[in-house]
Amino acid sequence: MFDTDSDQRPMFDVAIVGAGLAGLYALHRLRGLGLRVRAFEAGSGIGGTWFWNRYPGARCDVESLEYSYSFSEDLQQEWRWPERYGTQPEILRYINHVADRFDLRRDIQLDTRIRAATYDRAANQWTLRTERGETVTARFCVMASGNLSTPRVPDLPDLDRFQGKWYHSGLWPSEPVDFSGQVVGVIGTGSSGVQMIPIIARQAKRLYVFQRTANFSLPARNAPMRPETERRHKASYRERRLAALDTPFGIAGHPPPTKSALDASPEERRQAYEAKWEEGGSISFLYAYTDLLVNKAANETASEFVREKIRATVQDRTVAELLAPKDHPIGTKRLCLDTEYYETYNRDNVTLVDVRRAPIAELTPSGLRTREREYALDSIVFATGFDAMTGALREIDIRVEGGLSLADKWAAGPTTYLGLMVAGFPNMFVITGPGSPSVKTQMIASIEQHTDWIAGCLAHMRAGDFTRVEAEARAEGDWVRHVNEVAEATLYPLANSWYLGANIPGKPRVFMPYVGGFHVYKQKCDAVAANSYDGFAMTR
Ligand SMILES: Cc1cc2nc3c(=O)[nH]c(=O)nc-3n(C[C@H](O)[C@H](O)[C@H](O)COP(=O)(O)OP(=O)(O)OC[C@H]3O[C@@H](n4cnc5c(N)ncnc54)[C@H](O)[C@@H]3O)c2cc1C
Repeated sequence: MFDTDSDQRPMFDVAIVGAGLAGLYALHRLRGLGLRVRAFEAGSGIGGTWFWNRYPGARCDVESLEYSYSFSEDLQQEWRWPERYGTQPEILRYINHVADRFDLRRDIQLDTRIRAATYDRAANQWTLRTERGETVTARFCVMASGNLSTPRVPDLPDLDRFQGKWYHSGLWPSEPVDFSGQVVGVIGTGSSGVQMIPIIARQAKRLYVFQRTANFSLPARNAPMRPETERRHKASYRERRLAALDTPFGIAGHPPPTKSALDASPEERRQAYEAKWEEGGSISFLYAYTDLLVNKAANETASEFVREKIRATVQDRTVAELLAPKDHPIGTKRLCLDTEYYETYNRDNVTLVDVRRAPIAELTPSGLRTREREYALDSIVFATGFDAMTGALREIDIRVEGGLSLADKWAAGPTTYLGLMVAGFPNMFVITGPGSPSVKTQMIASIEQHTDWIAGCLAHMRAGDFTRVEAEARAEGDWVRHVNEVAEATLYPLANSWYLGANIPGKPRVFMPYVGGFHVYKQKCDAVAANSYDGFAMTR
């Protein structure tokens, strides 16, 4: 499409790295422009997050009627979600259905990890090299490699010495794991840990939970989908999706708050938080007042409400205090949603181990040793998260032939223009990259918004006979400054979170997502496109 001379043309117009929700939609959308597109996926199946994260209790924490594609009215009308929050198997079933329904599989190459991507300026094309050494050429490259797709196992000496079985939440085996009768150690109490701990506790003979940092968790209030809820939602699905585009998190149905938490009386606040607690879900809770994410005193009222709930639930006072987060304002780390997480610590077979006080020193053949004592374990589960937002890109050797590598460019932290492109790397788009709202939103809304923007850009280029697009260094610099300024005006930087890269030793501390709101960001992207892709240099 971009080349009339067939001798010169690369194998594909667009190569997509990854076949999760982003890669699949990009394939569908760009193929719809008549482009020759191929997606390359490291896994043996499609689905990304929902292919890899098969741990017990894995489910989305945005309601499924929202956390689903919006691009096809027929699809969203027809699909039935059995529960308020879909389980991992259910979401994976949905993704496979989408692939079949839109005939995507013929352009997806599974079991193919891309190791390197090199841009040749003279030929104006990318060459991708796979793990097996094959090469593929494409005019454009779309990185749909995921924000939470590079599992992180802690850097412990002697991992191999442990003779039991170990698992990572993000690399879970496809066959079910049965912990019955076992002594199990779960390391990590972020979103995945909080989801799996109650379920493993019911199976295992004994469960040790190794906690370094307590995280805030709210009740999900999961339940079977009520036919009336589904009917009402579907009756105005299109309008709801449009309304979601005009919200900070890309999720409709939560009226924006109008009042500061500090302007409400303690009793009024308690009632408001209690109502949100009963309703379940994180967006609703953080939307109780206007300033929960920007004013520390306001936030403290919500943080303390949740701490009180933990104290009221967990019978052992020492354990309750350990579980009550005090080192970050609520919402500044990814807020967990749970089903009976805190209640689990009232079980006789569950022990919380404080590894902030006595860190894990090493794995031993029969378990692990903290600085205080040894724990004999049959299985260890790492719920230790991911090298978030940049991990997958850092694992690919991305470079311009004879010039800059992305690793070098990002040595001090990621820089992008709109999270979409990196100056110096022409014709390479990133879906939900650092500098975009991505993980601070309903991700499928962000994925669709990004992909639609990229599709619009490519259509514009084709119409104008442009073959190369590149973010300008000035625009990138301005955007990075803006992303930082917006983050600095919030409470987010107060937490040692993976948003900042704080979970990866040696990773530069840069606040990666754009927290100005999905709606604000979308308006900016639309304005750039309307203004002839201001800040992007296009050449023929
Ligand atoms: C347990 C869990 C629960 C979540 N729940 C929610 C939720 O409720 N709501 C929400 O909005 N978001 C949630 N997320 C975030 C979730 O990652 C996104 O919603 C979404 O699935 C991202 O899709 P993606 O296609 O961008 O990335 P991914 O799903 O991560 O897919 C990326 C794919 O790229 C592949 N890949 C990476 N590098 C390479 C390479 N070099 N070569 C070939 N293939 C490669 C990976 O194997 C992967 O399959 C959750 C994440 C996790 C881990």
